[in-house]
Amino acid sequence: MDSSLCIQNGSGNDRESDTADKEFNLKLKFWGVSGSIPSPCTSAQIRGKMKNLLAKATPADLKDEASIEAFLLRQPHSSIGTYKGSTSCVQVSTDYGHEIIFDAGTGIRSLAGDLLRGPCGKGQGELHLFLSHLHWDHIQGFPFFVPAYIPGNRLNIYGVIQDLEKKFRNQMIHPYFPVLFEHLAASFVFTELEERKPIQLGENVVVHNERLYHPQVTHAFSVTQINGKKIVYMTDSEFNLSNMQLIQDAVEICKDADAFIFDCQFTFADCISKMDWGHSSVFTGIDIATSANAKELFLFHHEPSYDDSKIDQIIEEAIKYRAVAGNRDLKLTGAYEGLEVHI
Ligand SMILES: [Zn+2]
Ligand SMILES: [Zn+2]
Repeated sequence: MDSSLCIQNGSGNDRESDTADKEFNLKLKFWGVSGSIPSPCTSAQIRGKMKNLLAKATPADLKDEASIEAFLLRQPHSSIGTYKGSTSCVQVSTDYGHEIIFDAGTGIRSLAGDLLRGPCGKGQGELHLFLSHLHWDHIQGFPFFVPAYIPGNRLNIYGVIQDLEKKFRNQMIHPYFPVLFEHLAASFVFTELEERKPIQLGENVVVHNERLYHPQVTHAFSVTQINGKKIVYMTDSEFNLSNMQLIQDAVEICKDADAFIFDCQFTFADCISKMDWGHSSVFTGIDIATSANAKELFLFHHEPSYDDSKIDQIIEEAIKYRAVAGNRDLKLTGAYEGLEVHI
């Protein structure tokens, strides 16, 4: 274990006695996957999906509840659901009992509802919120995060951000929000992380960070469990051949990841026309995942102006590129709001 690790006391409920012969898993849940701004389906888009489904269905498909369910299961995700709505928020629950949250975009409001059914609802919760950066789409759900209003809950907030506490609190000042940050009843511990210096949560979980290229800088995080799985959260990042070191660093933090969540906001054409906007395409994600031997790539931070069928199209192109990259084993998943994965 790295002796330079910063250990957070009282984090999680580590079950140390089990660690020798058990593999520890992680639960991953996507609460917000839209890039830049909330972008739910419009009524016209929902009506279009219904029209297409009704036109496709045969009388046999609509015979009874079971046949309707079977018919729906055969349809692509974009026909029966939607990818996005809220902005960046991903929950990682470790087998050791840690609740880790990546970013506080508007998706964190729905996560709050879920957490309130557990210890957070009784003022006994402990959460670890890691902020990639402070752009609006990564923080603006926080004022609606109910566990922060309940006395007894403890929120540990981390970021590789100078004056993190002051900057984060400042989104809850008048006239931008009616409740001031100091009126939140939970207890808060802000930790300004050092770049590339890992921290340990309890005895068995380590979080690394890596610098990315984005306006005002952002950071990727990896969560690794002792004897267990690894997840990498890498969003709002641009890569190009003028900075090979950045690509190598990204590959390094992704090494052997079981799940790699990546900013796939741009198409290849967008990457050219929007150079320096600080976002990436799924093609770069596949290249990094392939070099790093990552097992599954989650397309994340979807372009808000793209509808569900366009995201399906991006995934289809990604499947073709995966073959070109010689990595048919890499699993590709378009992250959507509500997607829960056990790895
Ligand atoms: Zn963003
Ligand atoms: Zn950003």
